[in-house]
Amino acid sequence: MAAKRRRAGSDVRLEVWKFGGASLADATAVANAVSLVRAHRGPLLVVVSALAGVTDSLLDGARRSAAGVPEAASAAAAVFLRRHRDLAQALVPAGAARRRLLALADAQAREYREIAHAMSALADLSARASDTLVARGERAASALFATALASTGRRAERVDAAAIVATDGRHGQAAPDLDETRRLSRGLLLPLLKRGVVPVVPGFIGSAPDGTVATLGRGGSDLTATILARCLGASRVVLWKDVPGILTADPRAVPDARLLPQMHHREAAEVAYFGAKVLHPRALIPLDGSRITLHVRSFVEPTRPGTEVSTRRTLAHYPVKALATIRGQSLVTVAGKGMMGVPGIAARTFAAVHAAGLSVSTIFQSSSESSIGFTLSELEAERAVAALRASFRSEIETGLIDGVGARHGVAVIAVVGHGMAGAPGIAARVFSALAARRINVIAIAQGSSELNISFVVEEAQAAEAARAVHGAFQLSKIGGGRALEKPRTDVVLLGFGRVGRPLAEMAAVHGEGRIRIVAALDRSGYVFDPRGLARRRIQRLAEGKDRGELLADLGGRRATAAEALRSISAHAVTHPVLVDLTAEETTDLLSEALGQGFDLVLANKRPLAGSPAAYRRLFEAVAASGRRVRYEATVGAGHPVLDTIRKLVETGDRVLRIEGCVSGTLGYVLSALEEGRAFSEAVREAVRLAYAEPDPREDLSGQDVLRKGLILARLLGYEGPVPKAESLVPAALRSIPRASFLAQMSRLDDAWRRRVAAETARGRVLRYVVVATSRSVQAGLRSLPRESLLGALTGTRNLLSFTTRRYRTEPLVVAGPGAGPEVTAAGVLNDIQSLGTE
Ligand code: ADP
Ligand code: ASP
Ligand code: MG
Repeated sequence: MAAKRRRAGSDVRLEVWKFGGASLADATAVANAVSLVRAHRGPLLVVVSALAGVTDSLLDGARRSAAGVPEAASAAAAVFLRRHRDLAQALVPAGAARRRLLALADAQAREYREIAHAMSALADLSARASDTLVARGERAASALFATALASTGRRAERVDAAAIVATDGRHGQAAPDLDETRRLSRGLLLPLLKRGVVPVVPGFIGSAPDGTVATLGRGGSDLTATILARCLGASRVVLWKDVPGILTADPRAVPDARLLPQMHHREAAEVAYFGAKVLHPRALIPLDGSRITLHVRSFVEPTRPGTEVSTRRTLAHYPVKALATIRGQSLVTVAGKGMMGVPGIAARTFAAVHAAGLSVSTIFQSSSESSIGFTLSELEAERAVAALRASFRSEIETGLIDGVGARHGVAVIAVVGHGMAGAPGIAARVFSALAARRINVIAIAQGSSELNISFVVEEAQAAEAARAVHGAFQLSKIGGGRALEKPRTDVVLLGFGRVGRPLAEMAAVHGEGRIRIVAALDRSGYVFDPRGLARRRIQRLAEGKDRGELLADLGGRRATAAEALRSISAHAVTHPVLVDLTAEETTDLLSEALGQGFDLVLANKRPLAGSPAAYRRLFEAVAASGRRVRYEATVGAGHPVLDTIRKLVETGDRVLRIEGCVSGTLGYVLSALEEGRAFSEAVREAVRLAYAEPDPREDLSGQDVLRKGLILARLLGYEGPVPKAESLVPAALRSIPRASFLAQMSRLDDAWRRRVAAETARGRVLRYVVVATSRSVQAGLRSLPRESLLGALTGTRNLLSFTTRRYRTEPLVVAGPGAGPEVTAAGVLNDIQSLGTE
């Protein structure tokens, strides 16, 4: 009733649109958002969050500064300033409006730096100080958006959220005060709307009763949009995101997640509460009891309807509609046989937790009733345990309660759907799907609303558990049984050198629009566009790299690789694949990427050819994450070596021994020697033709061949240590500078000439051969008859022969051109494609 009365005084056609960080990633994205607004007819209020990554970066700078590293705040301020300046210059024509914007960005960056520096002496960042600092992200973005919109001729005005969104002042987690916000927002915004102005409001922030800025919790712009929609009596809220809408599960964990065309308010609320990042956990509360519909839509494909969240009930034949996962949780339990039948233990448990200012995500009760448990953020678990131990001290002393404990590193998965209430056997289906995959369920809760069942698993098994339940309820069939989008693969390149460019070209030509390069990383930073880097941009980056420049200076952002991956995976990528094109030790980074939902494709041999322990760690991380890894290009470049092994094994054969020549450089040099050329000359030529690394000792040392051999042997079951390769570089020349080596190389010419002549006289040739079995790996020079399989090999060609149970007398042979950037890129692309089709 109250809602009806209020709506009477509002414009029922009003819409509230929120643009999230991903839709404000760069100038193209903001221009796109502005043009969507411009094209809309009817009254509109716009809420914007900070530009992609800005909140993270401001928070990080503030925290590190408070921890005694003020330079971190200076760096964050500099990045903040640069990004806002660049966008202002790109989006707003020169003139007074642009100058005001630039001055504002300047002032904001300076204040941020000064406040953060002042706090660096305090060693602790209070939630209040953090809110003050981080509010700049939304404030700057809204100023930019309003000015850019106004410059297109649409009447727009920025209105600060502190003036219209009132909160309870719990910094970092503030809850809106709806009545006060209604009064303030109507007073300020309705007159503007009446005049046809589009108010542009920063999301995420509001005012505390003491006048300071308070944030609504991460992702809070969603909540700003729904609060204002409710207060103004809008007809709908549209959240523009980088996903097509709300999906049946997090697409990063469940690749075949599907778009839900419609969801009931309460279902969506449940999904949001249980951690689906797509909606702030409390975003739907303000809409409760109203008829305001909420739409989650894709800013990449704005003509598609996305997901409607409303009071309708559709998809009745799907008792379960969606899954959500809260990660980073601890399960805290209060246990004891004596608890049975003692009234008030549960109440006292939650009273103690509440008194410590902590909030619990889900409550679990074991079937025996001899324990009670709940989950909450891992960061708060120790405080909860301490509060409970204090509160139950006497019961613990008398043995009524055995103890209070916490299990860290768990995740809560919620299975959500309206139809669950009436459908029998839902829980049984959930748990048998988990049992079939041998996933251990640590605790179970059935929500009192019967809108969800939730359970706790080890965090490392969360993604697999989600996939199991998703499959059991055939959620990939929602929406007519077909994928609403072509299955797509978003590729992130780690390293952008000789292979990156041809790979990008080939993906554009042969990827059928399904493979998009969304980001490239180097040691300076990264470039990222969730819609895929345009070919021309890739071209320009490649040219810059050829000139020796770094990505951070070519329009990218400065960040470590780990930071870059975190920020990329937080944005949305569909079926992300990390392609390692470096030659570095990247195991830790790869493990982290797996945890963030990336599949891996490696052209880099190092992570696979390190110590046995490191190798095991990598594959344990692969297994735990449920992701996949491919590395064909590490051994055969473009031709199918690993694939051959896989096919042989799949058809019941057993590979006993693999032997061959796998170095284009060494093949080239040894053939050139047979033609009578000098060693030094042949090596120089190999470098010039880019067969060899710039420092040819990398190839001459045999290391590279050995690594390939080790990768092969490990596939056959080799678990021994990393052996030594026979090096063609004499000990005295191994650690001198590259230039001196190149200059002194001719000292080796005579010895090589004599050695090759002696072989030739006997009808033999030298080849650098690798042999891999399950028990050993060797890499070294061999003297072979000229007419043998390997002896007849010329130039850079590679050849591997497989002796197997079936091919015992006459081995199976795979041969092809040796590695070059194009061939390697083709191998990598093939791996990426194979991940997409499985
Ligand atoms: P915004 O740009 O509006 O802040 P978010 O990044 O917060 O948007 O939310 C969108 C992201 O939420 C997606 O990129 C996706 O990775 C993640 N996500 C998690 N669960 C779901 C789900 N069930 N449906 C859609 N997206 C989801
Ligand atoms: N910028 C804030 C965040 O990153 C709020 C939001 O995006 O909604 O959490
Ligand atoms: Mg968000």
